[in-house]
Amino acid sequence: MNALPAESLTAEQRIAMDFEAAERLADAIVERHHDDVRGRITISPQTHHRASSFGYPCDRRLYHDIKDWQTKAPVDPQVQQYFDRGNDQEGIIERILSRLGFRIISSQVALYDEELRIGARSDGNIVEHESGRVLVAELKSTDNAKLLACRTVDDLRQDKWGKRYHIQVTLYMRATGIGAAVLILWDASNWRPVVIPIPYDPILSEQLADRARRLNDHLDRNDPPGYINDSRECRHCPHFARACSPPMSFGVGAQILTDEELLAELERHTEIEAIGKEFNRLDAAIKGRLKGDKANPQDGLFIIGPYEIHRSVGDRKGYTVQATKTIKVEWEKVA
Ligand code: SF4
Repeated sequence: MNALPAESLTAEQRIAMDFEAAERLADAIVERHHDDVRGRITISPQTHHRASSFGYPCDRRLYHDIKDWQTKAPVDPQVQQYFDRGNDQEGIIERILSRLGFRIISSQVALYDEELRIGARSDGNIVEHESGRVLVAELKSTDNAKLLACRTVDDLRQDKWGKRYHIQVTLYMRATGIGAAVLILWDASNWRPVVIPIPYDPILSEQLADRARRLNDHLDRNDPPGYINDSRECRHCPHFARACSPPMSFGVGAQILTDEELLAELERHTEIEAIGKEFNRLDAAIKGRLKGDKANPQDGLFIIGPYEIHRSVGDRKGYTVQATKTIKVEWEKVA
């Protein structure tokens, strides 16, 4: 490093040297972050079930989690970054709640059910001011628009992630004997809470307990449960093609398509899916608010910030709907 005295440098030289330093610094930050993320990807021994994994539908996966943790695939660095973001934001969310007067207590207390062999580390409890009652609190920061659209337990049950979180907090309630929980979803894009109150469901709790007993029986006999017969679950499973090699079938009559344009469109769809969902959610929310009183709609002109909004009311023609065939397609990126 040739450190010339600052006064002997021309303005161009100083800019060039500073810019080189900025480029080195930019590379160093990205590289260190990359190493930092990879350094935290570890496989740790698992000796009991985890409440946070109980939402996975495949019994065999939960069996291998314990029997074959050594051969489990490490998490993808992108997924590790999501975990890191969640963990970092959890502390921030706790601080915001505290500022609002809602303190999380008994944070990160380890819970263990001896009979079921289920361990848990809940985010903690929270006190409702009026009654003084202590409730289970589960914090999740997310930008999953579908999950963030949930408002009730029934909504959670319809959503893949919501269902998992419902199962998780049910096990926390079972372990603590607390009769209700609040799932605090923190919208990481719009930075606001979506809070869903959840009552303890004894029937679901017993179903989960039965599942644990069944799994423990398999574990004691060294006899894995059957395959799930759902290739989508298997492709995301850390035991796939490792401890578990399920017979994969694409079903009778699957055709291989070779349309490059369609493939490019599917790839682009995957890239912008999250943005699209966010757009649709906002679009529906904004239109809903701007339509005003739907029972008594009125024309109008509104101004907000730089936006000029026109509302015009018209008549919609009525048609008789003809019966047609419905065609439903779903897709998922599997490799
Ligand atoms: S690969 Fe499939 S069947 Fe095997 S444990 Fe995983 S999800 Fe279950």
